[in-house]
Amino acid sequence: MTKHILVIPGDGIGPEVTHWGKAALQQIATTFNHEFSFDEALMGHAAIEATGNPLPDETLAKAKQSDAILFGAVGHAKYDNDPSLKVRPEQGLLKIRKELGLYANLRPILLFDELLHASSIKPMILKGTDILFFRELTGDVYFGEKIRSEDRNSASDLMIYHKYEIERIAHKAYEAARQRRKKLCSVDKANVLESSRLWRETVQEVAKQYPDVQTEHLFIDNAAMQLIKDPKQFDVVLTGNLFGDILTDEASQIAGSMGMLASASVGDGTGFFEPIHGSAHDITGKDLANPLASILSVALMLEIGFGLKDEAKAIVNAIDKVLKEGFRTNDIADSTTNRYKVLGTAEMGKLVLKFLSQTTFTNS
Ligand code: NAD
Repeated sequence: MTKHILVIPGDGIGPEVTHWGKAALQQIATTFNHEFSFDEALMGHAAIEATGNPLPDETLAKAKQSDAILFGAVGHAKYDNDPSLKVRPEQGLLKIRKELGLYANLRPILLFDELLHASSIKPMILKGTDILFFRELTGDVYFGEKIRSEDRNSASDLMIYHKYEIERIAHKAYEAARQRRKKLCSVDKANVLESSRLWRETVQEVAKQYPDVQTEHLFIDNAAMQLIKDPKQFDVVLTGNLFGDILTDEASQIAGSMGMLASASVGDGTGFFEPIHGSAHDITGKDLANPLASILSVALMLEIGFGLKDEAKAIVNAIDKVLKEGFRTNDIADSTTNRYKVLGTAEMGKLVLKFLSQTTFTNS
């Protein structure tokens, strides 16, 4: 298979982790006889510094011409501490999602048995958890009208959804549920919000086309509680943009660390693959970042973006082996025991590549 991949490392630990994601793609190309070509582009703070624009036209043009995008993270401490700055790194991310029509964010909560103890939730509650989140990406309070009163003492953000936005992601989520355990839980706040009542009505209509999938509706407050109480009850979870943002970060703790979770943003064009974590200023440049989420983003690119299931599995297996042999980055090491061999970003990346290079490919 021949594919052209755009790498957007971004800011903070973004470049440190995407380096290993790209290296994993190169190893997969060698082992499985694919031709992957690469280009690189700026976004976020790095792009503002170089061009004044968080999403330069050149980056967008390259993105539209690629088959998939591997992204790191954007963000810089100076913007976090000064909300009045008008040009901001995250504007690049919101704009590229909109421009590429990426309306669905898929976040699998993949739980490695070896990391059951890294979570703050009891292992017996976690074991067997396998959830696939579908978070809507182009609507909600993120894109509704934002108003600040003249005296600056009141503010509002419009929570808005259009029916077609709910329908298209609901179809994607139902199709995925059909390939899994055939359960879908839609999350809203229909007891209070009109936009949630539209969400629920629309999901109920779409559900009629998938009678083989069992549908459940939960209010966001209950869903947040159930996720910790009994995560195994969930299969596919469908949410709007804001509720999905919060719920998926909560779910990241099921997997033990932000450094272990990847996500795919898809729509009708080029797919966008990234770790769920941000630019992590606190650990930037210290060789402390866990590169596994970026490498798992590559597994998602191979499976969801290119339909290469064996290649994706090879990556997951290599990571599983690394963990089984007791290697950890700092964020997933249990500090109460010295059972684990704690590695930096680069050593962890190299070890995954080593195990990946031992994968044998049989052309069956
Ligand atoms: P964060 O995800 O960057 O970090 C949260 C915590 O998790 C930190 O303690 C960090 O050290 C740790 N962490 C994150 N990734 C890790 C990894 N791979 N390995 C080990 N530890 C890891 O979130 P934050 O601190 O709230 O935000 C920092 C910056 O990132 C902000 O500027 C924010 O705007 C930005 N951000 C960007 C994205 C994105 O680009 N998609 C997402 C979230 C936050």
